[in-house]
Amino acid sequence: MGFRFFRNDGGAMSKLLIDKHSHHVQPVETWQHALSNVVTDPIELCQLLDLNPTQVFSAKKATDQFPLRVPRSFIERMKKGDPNDPLLAQVLPLGVEMSDVAGFSDDPLQEQAVNPVPGLLHKYHGRVLITLTGACAIHCRYCFRRHFPYPDNTNRQHHWARLCDYISSDRCIEEVILSGGDPLVLKDHHLAAFIAELEKIPHLKRLRIHTRLPIVIPERITDHFIDLLKATRLRVVVVIHCNHANEIDESVILKLESLANSNIMLLNQSVLLKGVNDHSDALINLSQTLFRANVLPYYLHMLDPVSGAAHFQVSKEEALALMKKLKQNLPGYLVPRLVQEVPKELCKVSILE
Ligand SMILES: *Cc1c(COP(=O)(O)O)cnc(C)c1O
Ligand code: SF4
Repeated sequence: MGFRFFRNDGGAMSKLLIDKHSHHVQPVETWQHALSNVVTDPIELCQLLDLNPTQVFSAKKATDQFPLRVPRSFIERMKKGDPNDPLLAQVLPLGVEMSDVAGFSDDPLQEQAVNPVPGLLHKYHGRVLITLTGACAIHCRYCFRRHFPYPDNTNRQHHWARLCDYISSDRCIEEVILSGGDPLVLKDHHLAAFIAELEKIPHLKRLRIHTRLPIVIPERITDHFIDLLKATRLRVVVVIHCNHANEIDESVILKLESLANSNIMLLNQSVLLKGVNDHSDALINLSQTLFRANVLPYYLHMLDPVSGAAHFQVSKEEALALMKKLKQNLPGYLVPRLVQEVPKELCKVSILE
């Protein structure tokens, strides 16, 4: 990590370093600075939000298990003084995460069985999911990846040959999904080099990128990055991950607009989370706000039963009642599909009445 100099310096130091060395080193891009300058201390997070930090002391174990990590611009979208803010609830470690709950486990999706090459999951027909990095800009408490011991070497280029050999050998594979971790924490030259390898595989048609970066660090969507996506022969789909309309501010809308204007298809997936978006008003507002930003709702996921996340669970009955309200209040194209990931199933399973 070359950016550790820049952590917790309030911005002044990083400016100095960049100015001083600007003739010798590549300038650190704004988004890279935002990525290294994330808040990792729960007490600092509380102070930024005018909240009493005593509430987080009980959560030390939860923080040790899965550290707090949240970009500053995402914090700026939280409401000060509100301990129940829906954005805060997604990132704040709580003591309750450490209780064992029946049915919740460390690897609820049993993905080892569909992992033919390190960093590649081939679970569904015609598409493979690739993890180029285990790193994320933000740590979401409900994430099933919270227990994954990702090695730091997942983006080493010598793995790429094995990934591409696997894809080349199966002509049914038409789509590569970059997921993670978050693929957009990688720098453009890494992504471009990998996409160039993929382009050599004649049967590949689509490239899908699952990322939370356009939401949590919108500066990541640079003109250079957009040019990179425009240059590929593959049809590009970007699936963002947004759970609440408050996550979308004008800076996010502008960046999503630039992607949409470049013929990149934009979809959103959310997770249905108690205390975040388990109200029909919140979900309706989310769909409408996404549409304003050129994004169509794709999936609304039921929570994966990962240990530490049970307090986010919404029952199937409640979920179906919410879906009914969405269907009654929104055009069909703004209603996401309610799905659940089920081990060994050949697609995401729709939850229907
Ligand atoms: C979710 C997922 C996909 C993509 O499924 P879609 O229904 O096409 O969005 C692909 N592979 C894996 C392993 C997944 O979990
Ligand atoms: S993989 Fe996605 S949901 Fe999980 S911690 Fe990273 S950004 Fe959050």
